[in-house]
Amino acid sequence: MAKRPILIHPDPRLKTEAKPVGVISDEVKRLAEDMLETMYDAPGIGLAAPQVGVLSRLLVMDCIKEEDQPPRPMVLINPVVRWTSDETNVYEEGCLSIPEQYAEVERPAEVEVTWMTLDGTEASERFDGLWATCVQHEIDHLDGKLFIDYLKPLRRQMITRKMQKLKREQARA
Ligand SMILES: [Zn+2]
Repeated sequence: MAKRPILIHPDPRLKTEAKPVGVISDEVKRLAEDMLETMYDAPGIGLAAPQVGVLSRLLVMDCIKEEDQPPRPMVLINPVVRWTSDETNVYEEGCLSIPEQYAEVERPAEVEVTWMTLDGTEASERFDGLWATCVQHEIDHLDGKLFIDYLKPLRRQMITRKMQKLKREQARA
């Protein structure tokens, strides 16, 4: 396993719709392992392939936050939202591609998602709470959408300018 660099917004790859995964090759398996390592190391609770520069519909997540709970690393290939609740939830979201910026986003409180697992079988689960927010945030990444796209334009521009400054500083370092 190896950590991969995480793209920082703004980057055209973060605005591009990702392509479905065809066969689950060794390359895809390695990508999933690397993404889990990168996510845990960050640390974060979710990571989508476009965030490491791979435009494939694959995401990883683990929203277990309690220290005494075993981790639950999940790999979702070609995930599709099948159902969303009318009830919504507001969470303060962040993103590994938009470091240290947080904003409240309203999303459906519950979602049912189907996907393909790493061994090629179809899986389905109804997510709620933080898991529901996380899986929707990550699937958005596969469609080239960021959580700041839900904010008012002024707020979004402010965050984008901060990220441009951060990238300039990183480039100089
Ligand atoms: Zn994100």
